[in-house]
Amino acid sequence: MSSDQQATLVAAPAADHGQWLDGFTYTAHASRVVFGAGTVAQLPAEAGRLGLSRVCVIATPGQEADALRIEASLDGRVAGRFLHAQMHTPVDVTERALVLVRRVQADGIVAIGGGSATGLAKAIAYRTDLPQIVVPTTYAGSEMTPILGETQDGVKVTRRDPKILPEVVVYDVDLTMSLPPDVSAASGMNAIAHAVEALYAFDGNPVIALLAEAAVAALARALPAIIRDPLDVAARTQALYGAWLGGICLGSTSMALHHKLCHALGGAYDLPHAQTHAAVLPHVVTYNAPAARQAMAALSRALGSSDPAAALFDLAACIHIPMALRDIGMPHQGIDAAAKLALQNVYPNPRPLEYYAIRGLLADAWVGARPNGACPEAEGTR
Ligand code: NAD
Repeated sequence: MSSDQQATLVAAPAADHGQWLDGFTYTAHASRVVFGAGTVAQLPAEAGRLGLSRVCVIATPGQEADALRIEASLDGRVAGRFLHAQMHTPVDVTERALVLVRRVQADGIVAIGGGSATGLAKAIAYRTDLPQIVVPTTYAGSEMTPILGETQDGVKVTRRDPKILPEVVVYDVDLTMSLPPDVSAASGMNAIAHAVEALYAFDGNPVIALLAEAAVAALARALPAIIRDPLDVAARTQALYGAWLGGICLGSTSMALHHKLCHALGGAYDLPHAQTHAAVLPHVVTYNAPAARQAMAALSRALGSSDPAAALFDLAACIHIPMALRDIGMPHQGIDAAAKLALQNVYPNPRPLEYYAIRGLLADAWVGARPNGACPEAEGTR
């Protein structure tokens, strides 16, 4: 080990979780996770553990080849196949899938793909209580949450229910190698946003804080490497690991201002989900920093910077994500409209919601300004 490395190790203090030790609540969500490369080979054994012999395979139209690959590995346990999963889980698509599930008398669901395929599996499980095995191929993290967001007549309804949480998740790094670099970058920043908001969630706890810090560190290391070389197996492995942890964070805590703003912007202007997260996150971190010192210290350690907001901005910019909301379709009047929406339905956020400050952060995100607010408490944390 070089003397530089030794100095870094000595200078980095362990996470201080003192703020929670007066009392916290931690609920573990029970699911079985299989992680590695080539793990789809374990699908028949996992289906066997659940006693499944007639599963229905779910995917989006773009992943037919992946669906066929896992069907082959499931070795005679497939009763049906539905390859029409869609973004935002439209209820009419779920109803079509349910017709097939009932007709073939499926005894379980195996979903392969990103959040869209997982969403459909969850929607079916919510209605039938069938067991689910999910094979994620993006960094969305939905597979680790008991949350389902469905759309009907243009309205998105979100619910939590234990039936929604998949029983088994098989992470296979091999299946993520084909995820295009731009999708990987945006999906990875989305996973970072789950971890960031978990760090200052009102219902956070020290276990989730450990996972969140590790998630940010893994993804921040992996994403630039994936952009340099999308076939970098080590980076793909780190990114999928970080996405898993980010998914646990999302499923275990309540999201705050950042998710509220992204939801409002996405719904009002149909902005691309993951890019919106990347552009807004550094500015929400700037906004919340004075009221979330421990979270900022954790982010500083994970990002190796005393200015986590600027570090998140630089990370997203260096993986070629457009950082101005105006460049991804948000009109200027959206600044005011989204600031007002953010104040509707009061919800916990570390810093009280202040209209003019939120308007200011949205104006910065709209032009893509780089935040610049070193966090004094974070100095010397790395
Ligand atoms: P997605 O599932 O729609 O995937 C995006 C595209 O990438 C699809 O066309 C898909 O076929 C393709 N793709 C996926 N993996 C690939 C791979 N390895 N190689 C090549 N192409 C691949 O998008 P997403 O971002 O993963 O998920 C978004 C959806 O998930 C949204 O509906 C969002 O609301 C939902 N979501 C839900 C939760 C939750 O907890 N309920 C959490 C996160 C996201």
